[in-house]
Amino acid sequence: MSGSSQATARQVAMVFDLNKCMGCQSCAVACKMIWTREAGEEQQWWCTVNTQPGRGAPRDWESMGGGYRDGRLVLGREPAPEEIGGGWQFNFDEVFHGGRGHAAHLTPKANGREPEWGPNWDEDQGGGEYPNAYFFYLPRLCNHCTKPACVEACPNGAMRKRREDGIVVRDEEACRGARDCIKACPYKKIYFNHVRNVSQHCIGCWPRLERGVAPACVRNCPGRLAFVGFLDDEGGPIHRLVHEWQVALPLHPEYGTEPNVFYVPPLSPHPLRADRSIDESTPRIPPAYLESLFGPRVHDALERLRGELATVRSGGRSELLDTLIAYEFRSLLGPFTAEPATIGATAPGKEAR
Ligand code: SF4
Repeated sequence: MSGSSQATARQVAMVFDLNKCMGCQSCAVACKMIWTREAGEEQQWWCTVNTQPGRGAPRDWESMGGGYRDGRLVLGREPAPEEIGGGWQFNFDEVFHGGRGHAAHLTPKANGREPEWGPNWDEDQGGGEYPNAYFFYLPRLCNHCTKPACVEACPNGAMRKRREDGIVVRDEEACRGARDCIKACPYKKIYFNHVRNVSQHCIGCWPRLERGVAPACVRNCPGRLAFVGFLDDEGGPIHRLVHEWQVALPLHPEYGTEPNVFYVPPLSPHPLRADRSIDESTPRIPPAYLESLFGPRVHDALERLRGELATVRSGGRSELLDTLIAYEFRSLLGPFTAEPATIGATAPGKEAR
């Protein structure tokens, strides 16, 4: 393969409605609790939720390179440990068992020092100036791309897309720790496990998918903003939001990897002028900023959402907004509606097969 799409029988995709994300981190914690609790995985957060505008996780990941330019693979750089942060040690004994619970408080340490960055460091800082400050939340995980730069970059053939669902997986027996996948992924969603000398990333919860259970991030989202399903299911919400209504867009499409995680961009109130009157000519979140994240199609997507809102406010119905509201929880889950309890507290091994 050289910068070409990888043929799979079907493709699992996700849609996150950013108008409903409240930054509760339930998706991130659910993923962490199931998949990254072993040695060498302390700093790994396969799913992160960051405040936008912000520096993200890893810090300033958008400037690290990778992906495709003019159809050719570009290796960027690997994030440094201090840019990832996390994996901290806490003084649990002092606070909980040392008899100083009133005087001591939990203090994280990174290699003996105060940490200077972490996976959700700049929460709620956002952009703009009072009274026109603004921010929104952005859940991020591996996009299980149709043109996965990580797969092409691996010199050991350890990574592949699963034919049955398009999930990008790695054979940890074949991984030699070359880390070219980390450099090639423009979303910087691969971590290195120094204990086992292998790279690791979101596995799309494939052991759950195979048993009809939705991924942990989707299943545990209390805001009902995360959809999962097959992209070619023409009656399903994923296909309709991405292809029919075209309100769900990939993050940084210019990276060239053809992501399969899509986002409904955030609407926002209007800004205030200096005299405190409302400036109805523009939304508070700068359209140019949203274009820098989701590409030029974001303007049509927002226009469509605003039009549907106007329809409802004038007494009409909107199938698009009803879909996004997700009155029925199971409408978010595509064919993956089985109860998680049917497969126990944790799914079996995450190795590729
Ligand atoms: Fe590979 Fe990165 Fe795309 Fe995931 S997001 S498939 S790790 S290039």
